Amino acid sequence: DLSKRLATVGKFVPPGAFLADIGSDHAYLPVSLMLNGKIEFAVAGEVVRGPYESAKKQVQKNGLDKRIIVRLANGLEAIKTTDQINAITIAGMGGSLICDILEAGKQKKHLIGSERLILQPNIGEQTLRKWLQDNEYQIVAENILEEKKKIYEVIVAEKTKKIPMYDEKERMFGPILLKEKSEIFKRKWQREKKQRQVILNQLTKAVNQQKRIEAIKKELQLIKEVLG
Ligand code: SAM
Repeated sequence: DLSKRLATVGKFVPPGAFLADIGSDHAYLPVSLMLNGKIEFAVAGEVVRGPYESAKKQVQKNGLDKRIIVRLANGLEAIKTTDQINAITIAGMGGSLICDILEAGKQKKHLIGSERLILQPNIGEQTLRKWLQDNEYQIVAENILEEKKKIYEVIVAEKTKKIPMYDEKERMFGPILLKEKSEIFKRKWQREKKQRQVILNQLTKAVNQQKRIEAIKKELQLIKEVLG
């Protein structure tokens, strides 16, 4: 069975999707979605040989070779035009790495804009939302979940015709998560608040850290506003 984290990512994959799962590792996500009849076709992309081999094994073991193609490729280079991909999942990496993958995909035209993006950054959600906004992607759904004491965010985005108007707060907390303010959300930002207070204490003892101090103070202010 899928982890709660991957199951949540999977929930946002449209039924009957032609899916590209980038950084697929064991290909657990596409294999599970295929076995459950949720997707029609998938590409599992991996840039590292070890995980690529694990993905191939997992797909073969389940007899899905015809419907899940495993490719050794960097980022969205795993996608071919003929795949007719309409959903892309990128999970379990840092937000800035996800941005780099999307940006390179855009430059090389592997990302065409008609795909639904389902992203699960481990950190750097704000950076990722900024990229989405700058590239005219609207955040259509968000989810926050806790598993084994870790809190994860899932961000779902689709291309629009104009730049969405997210402000700094929405980029930091998530436009939808901010409206919902779930218990897990509050727990996450309580933790983040504490972390920043600790960092701030350290930084005030250091020299030449004024810029970082100001940035963290500003974030702390926003967190306090949001937590109320
Ligand atoms: N997506 C799975 C999940 O969420 O459980 C696996 C996450 S694993 C921590 C990240 C995987 O991404 C690794 O297997 C790594 O090799 C792969 N990866 C990192 N950068 C990549 C890139 N540019 N293109 C393809 N795969 C990449």
